[in-house]
Amino acid sequence: MYLFKQKDDLERHLSTARKEGKRIGFVPTMGALHRGHLSLILAAKEHSDLVVCSIFVNPTQFNDPADFEKYPITIDQDILQLTSAGTDVLFLPSVQEMYPKGLAPEMHYDFGQLETVLEGAHRPGHFQGVGQVVHKLLNLVQPDKLFMGQKDFQQCLIINRLIKLLHLNVELVICPTLREQDGLAMSSRNLRLNATERQNALHISRALYYIKDHLTQAPLKTIADKAINELKGNGFDVDYLDMVSIAPDGNIDFPNTPGKDPLYAVVAAREISSNVRLIDNMQVN
Ligand code: AMP
Repeated sequence: MYLFKQKDDLERHLSTARKEGKRIGFVPTMGALHRGHLSLILAAKEHSDLVVCSIFVNPTQFNDPADFEKYPITIDQDILQLTSAGTDVLFLPSVQEMYPKGLAPEMHYDFGQLETVLEGAHRPGHFQGVGQVVHKLLNLVQPDKLFMGQKDFQQCLIINRLIKLLHLNVELVICPTLREQDGLAMSSRNLRLNATERQNALHISRALYYIKDHLTQAPLKTIADKAINELKGNGFDVDYLDMVSIAPDGNIDFPNTPGKDPLYAVVAAREISSNVRLIDNMQVN
């Protein structure tokens, strides 16, 4: 596996590969890799000739400085895992390399409604930061396909919109959420939970399975409220737990009853004793 820390070196390497007709698959990450990340690498390997992974803990997408400070870093293990998964190139830039002009936004992305609901409402500025870094990374890597996880439901919609806004020639491939055996969605932030908190975190995926099992024609709000109360009673601050579907224009709809469209339960909640904020989602119909 090649490891590049400088944009120029990465661009030179990829331009040669492109001239050789290689199709590039790209998996952007913030490191502290787990099997969920590796499933994206494997999907990228299957659908491309050359797989590029980036590890960059992007400061501009953290609306909470403490969350940025505490973000887990396990770079040596990450490199071992990426090598054994058959990754061709790892891009590991510094903040200076990605933001040579400083962290102030260079442009504003008009994500419309997507930025005003769910994560957008609860993490002001987060998606602008995501937009900035993904825009920079896509310009550098110029992949044929971009692989992202369904775990970050709204992020997938945002990136879809970013690709359209910028008229980028890249296909977004969304990969399923990998879970631990007990149902907990794999996440780098799980590393910040001790054994008791890790056990408590299970209430999040349980809430989603509960909704899936109890989906009736009753107003969706009734089921959601039950799940919210269950989380609140078990040591969580719930930012949101909603039932949503994806509108034809890529916005997020909040239907009152199940319809024909895929319906997703989406949740963000802070496990109070650890102060770790976890997100998850599941198709429930
Ligand atoms: P992150 O390092 O958290 O920014 O995630 C990098 C990519 O991995 C994103 O596209 C995530 O959606 C994806 N990802 C994170 N957790 C999982 C998971 N449990 N299963 C599948 N993909 C995931």
